[in-house]
Amino acid sequence: MALIVQKYGGTSVGTPERIQAVADRVKRWHGEGHDIVVVVSAMSGETNRLIALAKAIMPDPDPRELDVMVSTGEQVTIALLAMALKKIGVDARSFTGAQVAIRTDSAFTKARIEAIDDARMRADLGKRRVVIVAGFQGVDPEGNITTLGRGGSDTTGVALAAALKADECQIYTDVDGVYTTDPRVVPQARRLDRITFEEMLEMASLGSKVLQIRSVEFAGKYNVPLRVLSSFADEGEGTLITVDEETMEQPVISGIAFNRDEAKITVRGVPDTPGIAYRILGPVGDANIEVDMIVQNVAADNTTDFTFTVARGEQKKALAVLEAVAKEIGARQVVSDDKICKVSLVGVGMRSHAGVASQMFGTLAKENINIQMISTSEIKISVVVEEKYLELAVRALHTAFGLDQPKA
Ligand code: ADP
Ligand code: ASP
Ligand code: MG
Repeated sequence: MALIVQKYGGTSVGTPERIQAVADRVKRWHGEGHDIVVVVSAMSGETNRLIALAKAIMPDPDPRELDVMVSTGEQVTIALLAMALKKIGVDARSFTGAQVAIRTDSAFTKARIEAIDDARMRADLGKRRVVIVAGFQGVDPEGNITTLGRGGSDTTGVALAAALKADECQIYTDVDGVYTTDPRVVPQARRLDRITFEEMLEMASLGSKVLQIRSVEFAGKYNVPLRVLSSFADEGEGTLITVDEETMEQPVISGIAFNRDEAKITVRGVPDTPGIAYRILGPVGDANIEVDMIVQNVAADNTTDFTFTVARGEQKKALAVLEAVAKEIGARQVVSDDKICKVSLVGVGMRSHAGVASQMFGTLAKENINIQMISTSEIKISVVVEEKYLELAVRALHTAFGLDQPKA
């Protein structure tokens, strides 16, 4: 008999009927003799609704109070699922993050899990109860409610699996696994039977929201067997996230990720002197703004254009910081563009294959898509292009790299 942590996302618990379907699935697993801990998200749309409500009072909501509020979404679904299970004769108890307790630091809205008490869960599991835990939330050393960042219930699931040394963490969602790219954008996308932690981490950090980045980091660090599955289908193995790279023949590219959530900022006419990158990015970092891609190029007149990307939500804040910096260093102008997106190819196979970048650039050239920025690492290549070309770029690359489903 195994100990299994199952996490159900927003659409999987989006209606009372869906919650009952989750209860039926949990009952089947529990009935086979397994110990089951279930983590649930808020009903789909609920977290957005709560955030909008807070913003109606305060455009930039107080983070502590925002966490008090958004954590209520998950408190509703844990109770509903416990009721649904009891209704079909399964003993179950629901717990908030604080009740467990899932201990975090005090970084409201993006807290990190520091420790998990397993005593209360173990006591209930010992009585053959299903334990239901609210995703996305924890409690800080002062007893404040914290939340783990959007999509954070994935991380709750994996962290509980690590703490309980579970045999598997199953992430149930509205797709039946991890695909070569978002199947909503490319209908020809293929489900992957397996993907390495390393690749999944890149996919997640480059914009594939199927798993929260931190959940993948956690699973890799604590060696938690992690599987993504559909809560809408009865059968299927889903996708296993694995450490093992030696599965059959490695394709060069495993997947394509994209991100529409960035904005590009350019400081024009920067004097080309030592320390200039620091003078520009130092204040940006001090303002707690994370910088992603960076491009710098020197022109004939010994000035440079310094371009970088930030999260779209931080664009205004970054511009305000840079207007001041530009005056100080004698730069000509600061401009920004939020109609951009980043498209990335990911694959451990890139390590042993040359020519991926040129094939990528050639494919985009054939579609007449202009590349604005490029960055590479050992297992990924990212480009920034105009946002209106996102779907065209992803589809063309998906076909060019042989990722499309075979035609029926
Ligand atoms: P949940 O509410 O269950 O946490 P999410 O919406 O967070 O679900 O994640 C599932 C969604 O992730 C899918 O509906 C799909 O559109 C999107 N997605 C993005 N990239 C991928 C990918 N490579 N494979 C599968 N799904 C992906
Ligand atoms: N309900 C939270 C969100 O919408 C956490 C999650 O669903 O994972 O971000
Ligand atoms: Mg999610």
